[in-house]
Amino acid sequence: MTADEAATIYALSSGSGRAGVAVIRLSGNRACGAFETLCPGQTLPPPRRVRRTTLVEPESGNIIDHGLAMTFLAPNSYTGEDVVEFHVHGGSAVVQAVVEALGRIGGLRMAEAGEFTRRAFENGKIDLTAAEGIGDLVAASTEAQRRQAVMQAGGAFAAQIEDWRVRLIRLLAHAEAEIDFPDEDLPEAIAGQARSDVVVLAEEMRQVLDDRRRGEVIRDGVRVAIIGPPNVGKSSLLNCLAQRDVAIVSDQPGTTRDVVEVHLDLGGFPVTVWDTAGLRETGDRVEAEGVRRALARADAADVTLVLRETGQAPARYGVSAGGGANQRIFLRTKSDLAANPVETVVVPGEISVSSKTGAGINSVLDRLVEAVASQFGSEEPAVITRERHRQCLLRAVEALDRAEAAASAELFSEDLRLAVRALESVMGRVDVEHILDIVFKDFCIGK
Ligand code: GDP
Repeated sequence: MTADEAATIYALSSGSGRAGVAVIRLSGNRACGAFETLCPGQTLPPPRRVRRTTLVEPESGNIIDHGLAMTFLAPNSYTGEDVVEFHVHGGSAVVQAVVEALGRIGGLRMAEAGEFTRRAFENGKIDLTAAEGIGDLVAASTEAQRRQAVMQAGGAFAAQIEDWRVRLIRLLAHAEAEIDFPDEDLPEAIAGQARSDVVVLAEEMRQVLDDRRRGEVIRDGVRVAIIGPPNVGKSSLLNCLAQRDVAIVSDQPGTTRDVVEVHLDLGGFPVTVWDTAGLRETGDRVEAEGVRRALARADAADVTLVLRETGQAPARYGVSAGGGANQRIFLRTKSDLAANPVETVVVPGEISVSSKTGAGINSVLDRLVEAVASQFGSEEPAVITRERHRQCLLRAVEALDRAEAAASAELFSEDLRLAVRALESVMGRVDVEHILDIVFKDFCIGK
C-alpha cells in the first residue's frame, strides 16, 4: 500500500448546496486524531454513538460550528477503517471552513470519486457487484432504477453468482480427484453426473442472460425515438412531452439536423426520448447525415413513435416491423387544424394528437408507459445490470459448454476452472486492477 493509499480521506458526503445539515465523512487511521484536532478537549463518541460537538479552527481556536459527531471503529464501518462523521449546518461557508481545516491536518487528503466505496471493496466489506449497486443507488433517478439498485446493493446478484461458484467448485473437486487418483477408478457414473451438472449450470446461466437486457435498459434509460417526415411536428411533440423547450421548432423543413434527447421519468421508468431529423430524401449533406442517424436511432430504440399528418400514409422507412423488442406507436399530429381534410387513411390503434392544445398527449404518455412496462416492468428486477456482468457470465457459459464436450478429465477441469474464474471476476475477486478504475470512475465524491 502506498502512502497515498494509506492516507486518511475526507469529503462532503451529503449533497452540495444550501441544506439544513451537511455530512462530512473521514476514513482512515487518522480519522480519530482529526476529531481531536478539530474538537480539542472533547471526547470522541463511543463507536456508533452520536455526540454533540463544537468544531473549532485549530490555529485560531475560533468556533466553526456546533454539530454532531459519530464514530465507527475498524473493522466495523462502511469502509472497514476508522470512520468519523461530522454533521454540521449545511451552509456552504460552514462546509468550506471544516474542509479547509481538515486539509491542514497532516496525513489527510480529499477523497476521490467513489473512494469510500472502493476502500469498502478493497477491505472486503462488500463485493464488486454490491459496490456497483451502491453507485447505481446514488445515481438512481427513477423508481425502477432504485428498486433494481437496492437489490444489487443488498447482494442479490452476488448471492446468485456465489451459489453457482460453490456448485462449480464442488464439481471441480470431483474432477480433480479423477485426475489425481486415476487408478482408484472413480465410477463412470460420477463423470456422467458431473457432465449433466455442468449442463444444468450452463442452462441456469443462460436463463439469467436471456433477459432482453432489462437491467441495462433500466440503468441507462428506455430508448424512445420519434420519427416522421420533416415538419410533421416531431420537435413540438418532444417539447410537449418534456414540458419545456428542448428542440428547435420551426416551420422550415429540416431544422432538426442532429438527434436531440430528453430524459423523462415515465411511470417510474427512466426514458430517453430522441427527436430525430425529418426523414426524407435530401441532397443536403448535413441533413443526409441527420437522416442516417435518425434511422439508426429508430432501429436502436425500444419504442418508436411514428408520426404522420392527416391524409398521409404512416412512414415505413424500413424500421423493424414492430414485432420483437421494438414497439411502434402511431400518431396523427396537428389534430387541432381546422383545415385538416377528412381522413381516409386508417391506421389501427393510432392516436390523434395536438402539441398545440395538448389534446391526446396523455393518451400518448399512457401508451408509452404501457409499452415500456410490458417490455421492462416485470415484477422481478433483472439480475444483470451492466455489460461487464454479461461479458463475465458469457465467458462462464462458454467454458461450461466446452467442458461438456471435453475429451479428457484434464480438459474438463481446466474449463471448469475458467468458468469459476469468470464468476469470480463478476464479484471482483480476480483481474481486479484494470476493472476497478472503470467501475469507480462513475461514482461521485463522498461515496
Ligand atoms: P418537425 O420538423 O417534425 O420537428 O416539426 P416541428 O415540430 O418543427 O413543427 C413543424 C411546424 O408544425 C411548426 O410550425 C409547428 O408550430 C407546427 N406544429 C407542430 N405541431 C403542431 C400542432 O399540434 N398543431 C399545429 N397547429 N401546428 C403544429
